[in-house]
Amino acid sequence: MARPRQSSQLPSLAVTLVTYTLLLACTPTRDALPVASTTPPAAERWCDHLPRAGNAALPRVTVATDWFEVYRVATGVFALVESRQFQETISYLIVGERGALLFDTGLGVVPIRPVVEELTSLPVRVLNSHTHYDHVGGNAEFGDILARDTPYTRANQRGFPHEELAGEVAAESFCGAPPSALDTAMFYTRPWKATRTVADGDTIDLGGRVLRVVAVPGHTPDAVALLDSAGGLLWTGDTYYDAPVWLYVPETDLDAYERSIDRLTQLAPSLTRLLPAHNVATAEPTRLSEMKSAIRAVRRGKVRGTVLPPNRVEFRFDHFAILTSQPLLDGRTGDRSRGGSGLTSWK
Ligand SMILES: [Zn+2]
Repeated sequence: MARPRQSSQLPSLAVTLVTYTLLLACTPTRDALPVASTTPPAAERWCDHLPRAGNAALPRVTVATDWFEVYRVATGVFALVESRQFQETISYLIVGERGALLFDTGLGVVPIRPVVEELTSLPVRVLNSHTHYDHVGGNAEFGDILARDTPYTRANQRGFPHEELAGEVAAESFCGAPPSALDTAMFYTRPWKATRTVADGDTIDLGGRVLRVVAVPGHTPDAVALLDSAGGLLWTGDTYYDAPVWLYVPETDLDAYERSIDRLTQLAPSLTRLLPAHNVATAEPTRLSEMKSAIRAVRRGKVRGTVLPPNRVEFRFDHFAILTSQPLLDGRTGDRSRGGSGLTSWK
């Protein structure tokens, strides 16, 4: 359902008024909701559209597990896609000459380390695009984890309990059966330890490939993008992907997000592609300036959104949507020091 619409008009700020109230109560999804759809939600499940065209166009790499779809997105860069859970999380393994970096560790419903070890025998460090549950699920499988030094990050290292994640492993959250080894009645995020901290501007040298950490707070306080200047690649995490970008939880900061998007937009002319953390493993760098215009228009009241009870508001654009919440639009701030799985609601 997050299939990109075919429009080539860039950027259009005309928000489509949508008439799909039937969909409002359905399972959470990162999918773009269908335009003026009268189709029942059951027929619009994300798994009806897998593999997404953008992923199917990439060279596929065969690995032992059928949970992770692995695609080669650039030389030494693998996307590990978990498309059979509705988050469609994408982790990336970036391989240099002397070491590798795993940018996110996925949902944690199936171990990711065996897949990584099939793809490289080099030492692997982990860095998370941010510490929401769907990006740190496999952190506990690794011994070398780089992390931002923020209260939010430290709080999230405790892991997330089953009560918070139960809906994420409910039957309707999977496309087909859940992974056979997953205990859906017990699933939780294991605690993990950061071994080193990273700050904005730090570089990670993998040998023949240098990555720069770009702090992009907004979606969460600890969000980072990763820049490979020589390769023209920018890993955007959840700061940008071609689907509804979730900007509604209490730990989200829209002021910071707007500044971060401005900053990434400045990098766009030197980029060949974005590598986002959900749905499709590549996106056009021009999306950043589209998002810059879009978030501005949203925050300045220039476009109309659709209220999704109890307090979310969705603003739709040509290639993505902004899913935010009324408290954030009203300027409220949450307590970011407590951490957050990405699933917390406003009280
Ligand atoms: Zn995410």
